[in-house]
Amino acid sequence: MGAKCRQNVGRLWETCRMKKPRLHVTKWLGEIPVEIECTSCPEWSFRATPSSHRPNREECSQQLQRAFDQHFKTVHGSEESGKISE
Ligand SMILES: [Zn+2]
Repeated sequence: MGAKCRQNVGRLWETCRMKKPRLHVTKWLGEIPVEIECTSCPEWSFRATPSSHRPNREECSQQLQRAFDQHFKTVHGSEESGKISE
């Protein structure tokens, strides 16, 4: 960590490949993950928008996972991504 990992906007992925981006849940609603961030992109975060007043764990997890997959593919250019850990 250090000089080689400068935050060169848009080029971070080319200079900092060794650190694999992972999904990190930052906010929980009881047992339900509602907000996530990417361990490699502190500026990126995603909040689940439950379709009902009583958020469903499955639904939120899927929304978050999908958003992260999308982020991972577009930003990190890979099909492989982290999973929400149980
Ligand atoms: Zn990222």
